[in-house]
Amino acid sequence: TTTAPIKMRYEEDADMREVLFSADVLAAKVAELGKQISEDFAGKPVVLLGVATGAFLFLADLARAISLPVQIDFVKAASYGVGTTSSGAVAITKDTVLDLVGQNVIVVEDIIDTGHTLNKLVKHLSHKAPATVSVCALLNKEARRVVSIEYPPGGKEYIGFPSPDEFVVGYGLDFAERYRSLPYIGILKPEIFS
Ligand code: 5GP
Ligand code: MG
Ligand code: MG
Repeated sequence: TTTAPIKMRYEEDADMREVLFSADVLAAKVAELGKQISEDFAGKPVVLLGVATGAFLFLADLARAISLPVQIDFVKAASYGVGTTSSGAVAITKDTVLDLVGQNVIVVEDIIDTGHTLNKLVKHLSHKAPATVSVCALLNKEARRVVSIEYPPGGKEYIGFPSPDEFVVGYGLDFAERYRSLPYIGILKPEIFS
């Protein structure tokens, strides 16, 4: 856990208990992920498929860190779980628009928690006859994994950082649709939840 001082710039900064990943730390990691993806898929175009809404900032930065031709699309998934935990009942509420036949698809996600959302999405996408389906997730809450993601052959998994088992916000991630625009990832003060 890297704690950086919060430069009070946004009104929502005041609700933060701790900064986990500063904007600089995130930028360095995104550059690294983009370089790795550019090497792994060298000479081939890729489709970056963002999982809305949480991945929007990560996808925007990642796209600019990839030196390959990139196509962009978004899907949206909703999970009907108990409280804040997602369940196996994941519904895709917005499907892809692009034709994925023969494409190298990289699903761009903010955080892997139980794994239900990505497992469902990867399975769903593999029926669209893509060349490969990979995942690039900025954060991974390994301790909370319930299902492992089943990749079709050739699929790769890119992970930015391991995440502590805490509810994190910022850089796309929300609490009740707030905090998404913050340039860093942090943990809210406990009183914000109550
Ligand atoms: P999963 O299906 O893997 O359990 O959960 C996936 C989704 O739950 C993530 O894409 C994200 O939208 C949400 N989620 C899981 N953990 C967190 C968290 O710590 N903070 C926020 N803001 N969302 C989370
Ligand atoms: Mg998400
Ligand atoms: Mg959310």
